[in-house]
Amino acid sequence: MMNNQLNEIIQSRGGLFWLEGEHNPSTIEIFETITSIFNSYTTFTEKELYKDKPRKIVYGILNGSTLNALAYASPSSDETPFDFIGINVGTIFTLLDVFGRILSHPDNFPEIGNASLEDAKRAYVPYLSTDIISSHNSLCFPNCPVRSIYSSNLATTALTFLFFHEITHLRNGHLEFIKENTSYIFWQEALSSNHKEVDPLILQTLEMDADCGAVLATLNKAFNLMKQASFPKKQVEPGMLDALKNSHGDGEAATKTVVFSIYTMFRLFDLSDWDILNQHKYSHPQPPIRMSWIASTICTIFHQRPAYNYAAEKFIKDASNTIIEAEQACGKIKNMAPDTRGILSVFTTNLHVEYSERLNEIWRTIRPQLEIHKRGGNLAE
Ligand SMILES: [Zn+2]
Repeated sequence: MMNNQLNEIIQSRGGLFWLEGEHNPSTIEIFETITSIFNSYTTFTEKELYKDKPRKIVYGILNGSTLNALAYASPSSDETPFDFIGINVGTIFTLLDVFGRILSHPDNFPEIGNASLEDAKRAYVPYLSTDIISSHNSLCFPNCPVRSIYSSNLATTALTFLFFHEITHLRNGHLEFIKENTSYIFWQEALSSNHKEVDPLILQTLEMDADCGAVLATLNKAFNLMKQASFPKKQVEPGMLDALKNSHGDGEAATKTVVFSIYTMFRLFDLSDWDILNQHKYSHPQPPIRMSWIASTICTIFHQRPAYNYAAEKFIKDASNTIIEAEQACGKIKNMAPDTRGILSVFTTNLHVEYSERLNEIWRTIRPQLEIHKRGGNLAE
């Protein structure tokens, strides 16, 4: 499914990625796995999430080597309107590499698999690269097979979040809103300088909304995997089942996987220092505050749905430990002390309160414009 406008956008982003030529079998396996996951998410979205205004959903892996994703909605005047999600191939490689390195360091997640097989020197990177392909470094996978699969489970969880983040931009009418109010024709994640026509706080409000939809879906998928870890449907290789039990063996493990993966991905998307005084200038909220909203969304879900069987109060404590663990893990692979300034300023000061209230005010003003375009579900109050 394609129109000229989308074709131009895709070509300007380097075209679609095709797995051609000779590849290492593990690369082929990675892409087959990711494609089958994205296919199932596409079907799930069409059936479950787009009930008010059904539309076809199409996704594509784009040739871009950097960490980026985009969303595009074809005009409703099109004969068959559709929504498109583009994810750079570099995003997939970058996520696999960062989680691979984290698990390749024996001090990170020592309880998973056999950490003594790992070598800290292999894990080392001088800085967190968001462009693995151009840096010509080969991907780093842990030596221990269980730790290797565990690291892929973290990367897949981050991709799940990213996929549903883009879906929520589309589902909640953000694309129509941005087209009505600016000259932009698509939504791009990692290009803040592109957004000069609109108050960055409006973009941040929409990002916050997209995160909210994404975390709901990611948590739901993680708890489905938890059921698979307990009652595997088909014959699964032992290493794979061990890794799945570690990453999704119970509600606490599944939630930790979600929080750890999302936070690490946010840190990759935004490598700048925590800049609380200028937080209104960016297209996306900065990682610590973004993560604190996600944590409070999960907290609300656990409060409202006892079936998750995870006390919200316990979750909040666990989540802050997980976020600190993620900073420590990133520090370990860079051979540096963890950078906890951002997290501490969100959890121990009130500097972000007025700013968060401003975003809520903006949400109330733009909500009616989104309401007429949403594809399904209820918008946040
Ligand atoms: Zn976004």
